[in-house]
This record gives sequence, structure tokens and C-alpha cells, in this order.
Amino acid sequence: MSRFQRVAVLGATGSIGESTLDVIARHPDRLAVYALSAHSRMERLAQQALASRAAVVVVPDDAARRRFLAAWPAGQSAPEIRVGAQALADTAADAECDTVMAAIVGAAGLPSALAAARAGKRILLANKEALVAAGGLFMQAVRENGAELLPIDSEHNAIFQCLPQGQHAGAPTEPARGVRRLLLTASGGPFRRQDPEDLHDVTPDQACAHPNWSMGRKISVDSATMLNKGLEVIEAHWLFAMPAERIEVLIHPQSVVHSMVEYDDGSVLAQLGQPDMRTPIAYGLGFPDRLASGVSPLDLARCGRLEFETPDLDRFPCLGLAFDALRRGQGACIALNAANEIAVEAFLAGRLRYTWIPRVIAAAVEWQQRQSSVTLNNLADVLALDTEIRAYTGNLGLA
Ligand code: NAD
Ligand code: MG
Repeated sequence: MSRFQRVAVLGATGSIGESTLDVIARHPDRLAVYALSAHSRMERLAQQALASRAAVVVVPDDAARRRFLAAWPAGQSAPEIRVGAQALADTAADAECDTVMAAIVGAAGLPSALAAARAGKRILLANKEALVAAGGLFMQAVRENGAELLPIDSEHNAIFQCLPQGQHAGAPTEPARGVRRLLLTASGGPFRRQDPEDLHDVTPDQACAHPNWSMGRKISVDSATMLNKGLEVIEAHWLFAMPAERIEVLIHPQSVVHSMVEYDDGSVLAQLGQPDMRTPIAYGLGFPDRLASGVSPLDLARCGRLEFETPDLDRFPCLGLAFDALRRGQGACIALNAANEIAVEAFLAGRLRYTWIPRVIAAAVEWQQRQSSVTLNNLADVLALDTEIRAYTGNLGLA
């Protein structure tokens, strides 16, 4: 697809959204913004819409619509303003756009990502929670509607780049031929060397101080607990049709090797680069061409050392919980993700200790597993279980 693309950036005001707009602005000859969405920070959304000449913005409610208009400069013609969750899904499926950047945080991004798949769009998927909650449903929609799926999460983008030439940007039903294992790298976050006993009084700012990447606060906490890597194992399972036992996690504190693919002949292919999300974003926007991203070249001599170690599951219990959830099935994965979202929100608001995050997740997964079997055939089923888990977790006194 080298033709001109009109892009909808969902979650435009976030870390991934900002990086996406930066890359798009570098290529006016082949990329333009069609629509932008945001949940808060309407002033920033207005600035972005003005600079990118977006035709459409999507906001959550009427109060946000008024704030957006108040921030809009007098005398400039305003974009069309669409309101609410349905408008978000409709915009993802809008015939006027070719490409959808799914960069909303959390399961809240699932309906719009699914709508983009059903509309057969090129989807740049940053929102990993959508795959964790509804991987089967989402991949089926990609397959049945001829959508093009390009992983943006840096590890999955790296794996996609290292898979056999000609790997289709779609939804495989079995592992690529000749591939033995996927090796996902993880930085280990800010507490890699901390004694677990010392983590009780960790503050949100300490947990969000990631050593290598600058990201939104929810994913930053997930990186500290390594639940992020757990979500990524589940994400890799769906994206590459790979069973859990053929996905390995390696701690690599320098965040230079973004992930690797191991082949049957013993070859291991890696993708390297600066820890800057504009590289995978540019890859997705340009595929199969390579676009300039604004990322400075990697200076390996300056990096000096590249280290790897096996993660300690006692230190990072959330990683073990995610592997367990993947083996147990979709209900457990929905519970893992929803309970984590509530727990992280409570931690960031000062209502939950850092060390309680894995306990809350474990309790929610156990509770879900004790329920009589649930059917998860469609989006409504998934969202109903997600809501139920949030209510259960809230009843633990967190919400
Ligand atoms: P962020 O918190 O910086 O931004 C989130 C965006 O989603 C904002 O625009 C916000 O307004 C919007 N949003 C929040 N709640 C919403 C809701 N209920 N409905 C609609 N919109 C809502 O997050 P981020 O760091 O940019 O991450 C976005 C997604 O990309 C996450 O799923 C994350 O796991 C994934 N991701 C991020 C990075 C990164 O480097 N930041 C890397 C890999 C994957
Ligand atoms: Mg990642």
C-alpha cells in the first residue's frame, strides 16, 4: 500500500498518539490525518486538530465538546465534532479513512479496534489490552474482513520484522514455518534490582520513572510490575498464533534489542534500535516501505554492552500470573486485564499499595475461574465479563 493514506489516530493526546502525529507530519506527500480522538485534555486535542487539519475529532461527552470548542481559536473553521463511544467505533470504520492507529489505553479501546478490523482497515495496533481481552474475536475479524494488521508494540513490531520475508500483515492461524520460539525482551523496569521487601512504599512517580522509555502512566506501572510483559506474551500468542510454551521472556536492561525470533536451524534474528516508538510507528505507517521517523541512529559502540537474563518470577509475580491466565483461557485473560486496570488506577490515585497489585489480580482471576463456565462468543459477552470483573475488583474496596 504505497498510495496516499488518511489516518484516524485514536488516543491522539497520549504518548503513542503524539509520536504518531510527529511521524505523519514528516510525510505530507503520503500521509494525512483524517480524525483524532481523545478522552481528556481537550485543549491539547484542539491544538493537534489545528496543526494536522483533522476533518473530524471524537470526544467522550458534551462537556468535552464544549471544552474543545472553548479551546478552538476564533475565526478558524472547526472540525466536525463527534461525541461518544459509538462515534468512536463509527469513526474507526469510516469510509473516509484508510488507516487506524489504535492507541487508546485499556479495554476501552477494544470496540473501536474491532470496528476497524470489521471495516477491513489497515490497523496499527498499539492497544494491547484489546488483544488480551478478545484476541480470538479480533483476529477472526481481521481475517474475515481482509484487514491489514501491523503490530506497533515495539516487541511485536520487532518480531514481525524478523519473521520470514513475505509474512502477511494479517492474522495467521498457525506459527510461521521454521520458527521455533519467540524471544520477547523486557527492560525489567525501575525495580529490577530492588529487594521485593522494599517495594511496599513505592510511589506512583517512582513506579512511572522508567529507565529507558517515556510512556503513559498506566503502561509505565505495568512495566514496573512486568504485567506489561505478561500482556505482551498474550498479545504475541494471538498475533503470531504461537503457543505459550514457545514464547520466552528475557530481561534486557538496555532496551536496544526489541525482540527476537528463533528458527529451527538455530538462527536467531533480532531487531535493534533506539527505544523510541516512532520507529515501529513509522514501520506501520510506511509498510512495506521504510519511512524516516525522526529517530536518531543507533550508536552501538556507545551502548557498549547488551545484557540478557531470565526474569525471576518471585520478584515479578505479575508475569507468572499472565502466563497462567493464557493457559487457563479467555475468561482468565479478561479477568487479569480488567483487575489490573482497576488496581493500577487505584495505585496511581494513592488508594492501593504497589505490592497489592498482583494480589488483586490473582484474586480476580481465581474468582472468575470459580464461576460457572461463561460463553465469550461476541463483543457483548467480553464487555459483560469485563464489567463484572471491574465490579468484583471494586468491591475489594478499590474503585
Ligand atoms: P496514554 O495514557 O499516554 O494515552 C492514552 C490515550 O487514550 C489518550 O489520548 C486518552 O485520552 C485516551 N483514552 C484514555 N481512556 C480512554 C477511554 N476510556 N476512551 C477513549 N479514549 C481514552 O497511553 P499510551 O502510553 O500512549 O498507550 C496507549 C496504548 O498503547 C496502551 O494500550 C499501551 O499499552 C500501548 N503501548 C504504549 C507504548 C508507549 O510507549 N507509550 C508502547 C507500546 C504499547
Ligand atoms: Mg512493549
